[in-house]
Amino acid sequence: MIIDISDVLQSVNKERNEEVNLEMTTFSSKLGDFPITQKAPILLHLENRENKQLFITGEVSIEAKMPCDRCLTEVPVDVHFEINKELTIKDGSAIDEEMEEMDYLIGFELDVEKFVYAEILVNWPMKVLCKDDCKGICKVCGTNLNGGACDCQRTELDPRMAAFQDIFNKFKEV
Ligand SMILES: [Zn+2]
Ligand SMILES: [Zn+2]
Repeated sequence: MIIDISDVLQSVNKERNEEVNLEMTTFSSKLGDFPITQKAPILLHLENRENKQLFITGEVSIEAKMPCDRCLTEVPVDVHFEINKELTIKDGSAIDEEMEEMDYLIGFELDVEKFVYAEILVNWPMKVLCKDDCKGICKVCGTNLNGGACDCQRTELDPRMAAFQDIFNKFKEV
């Protein structure tokens, strides 16, 4: 969705609300392709402040399917955050000082999809777990350990092996 924001950029202290619906059904990044299973309409608030700054605020709430970091099971994850964007207005056009090449605003045309995409990208969860105590998958046979232990597990449960494992883990942390 592209909205013309010339009115906000050209009239001092002008404010405007715009309700937008995201078109994307999949979120694709370097990390992979993630199906978006739910998305709420976004109420964007645009504000010209003294012809010096353009503020774009709003709230994003989507749910996407992502694989658990430990067991790789796909789980729905809420991605919820506030947009708080501040652009500089110079000679009637807006500049994003944080971005080398601003692709979401060309002239007066704000490409909402591209704008929100960049915001989702920086707010993407760093860690995804299907549950806090996910046991992961066995590194030897690939069994999902949440469903029960595999045969390889028995050796790891041996206290002497566990002690060895601790030393090994400590070694890895250095
Ligand atoms: Zn898991
Ligand atoms: Zn195993």
